[in-house]
Amino acid sequence: MIIVMERGTERSKAETLMAQLKEQGLEPVPLFGVERTVIAVIGEERNLNVSHLESMPGVAKVMRVVQPFKLVSRETQPKPTVVEVNGVKIGSKELAVIAGPCSVESEEQMEAAAAPLAKAGIKLLRGGAFKPRTGPYAFQGLGADGLKIMRKVADKHKMAVVTEILDTRDIDLIASYTDVIQIGARNMQNFTLLKEVGKTKKAVILKRGLSATIEEFLMAAEYILSEGNPNVILCERGIRTFEQYVRNTLPLATVPRVKELSHLPIIVDPSHGTGKPRLIGPMAKASIAAGADGLMIEVHANPQEALSDGSQALLPDQFAKLLEELKPLAKVMGKTIK
Ligand code: PEP
Ligand code: MN
Repeated sequence: MIIVMERGTERSKAETLMAQLKEQGLEPVPLFGVERTVIAVIGEERNLNVSHLESMPGVAKVMRVVQPFKLVSRETQPKPTVVEVNGVKIGSKELAVIAGPCSVESEEQMEAAAAPLAKAGIKLLRGGAFKPRTGPYAFQGLGADGLKIMRKVADKHKMAVVTEILDTRDIDLIASYTDVIQIGARNMQNFTLLKEVGKTKKAVILKRGLSATIEEFLMAAEYILSEGNPNVILCERGIRTFEQYVRNTLPLATVPRVKELSHLPIIVDPSHGTGKPRLIGPMAKASIAAGADGLMIEVHANPQEALSDGSQALLPDQFAKLLEELKPLAKVMGKTIK
């Protein structure tokens, strides 16, 4: 950390500050210039509070040298993390494709989506049993019954289950049915929930919050890793902006930027990222081109009747066609879709 003192500040102020830093186990190295004093601080700067330091007498500016996150950082671990689920190595040369309906509605509905997906080679089946809806009157999901349906249908087709958790009280129940726990956009900063999934060893898909910065996104992942669970997959799902012609704005620069900053795999959800079936294909392709490790796409056999997000669902046939279009593109990017 670099601390720049205000112009003309007395040396005593810098000395008081340095004494305090030493008390915290850090090593301040001062540079007394003609106009200003600059203090380089050696040691674990992540424990220091920047705003607190900036409010100290005589301090003009405080600059971090390292990122505020540590365990998720590429600096800490240069080698990419690979999370293996049902034989799919997420974060490797293999492109992971997760597909399925927004919500679990019935066994018939799950079967109608899962069967064609399995036939297309999809190994990771998504579906929400606990749904984070904007209002309390919308379909909230089937809860425990939904989990049972998911597991049954996934097992039948040798698929893994990806499902969302909303509440820490459901952790044991959900963990007993699912292979991957999803933390949705609305819960990205539910720190209690992040810590709870961090205590499990299950793979976790952490979706970016609607208005979260990349730093906040990575700090949320840091919570999970700091509890001992390294199996985190980040998911860019679009952010809220002033734009009205798409459901969310899908910032694909997140993918290469996160790859510079972190070793964690990152996938893209072009379904929530656009909200429109005809935009899913182009953005899925763009995601692969941007270097994404995978995709999460909503598929429903009868979108008109869907209880949530029907308006953005692809039909199984549309999905299978898109998957074929994605394969040569993945190859160009040095990846494969099995
Ligand atoms: C979902 O995946 O169905 C979902 C609710 O996504 P998000 O949290 O990104 O809105
Ligand atoms: Mn959805």
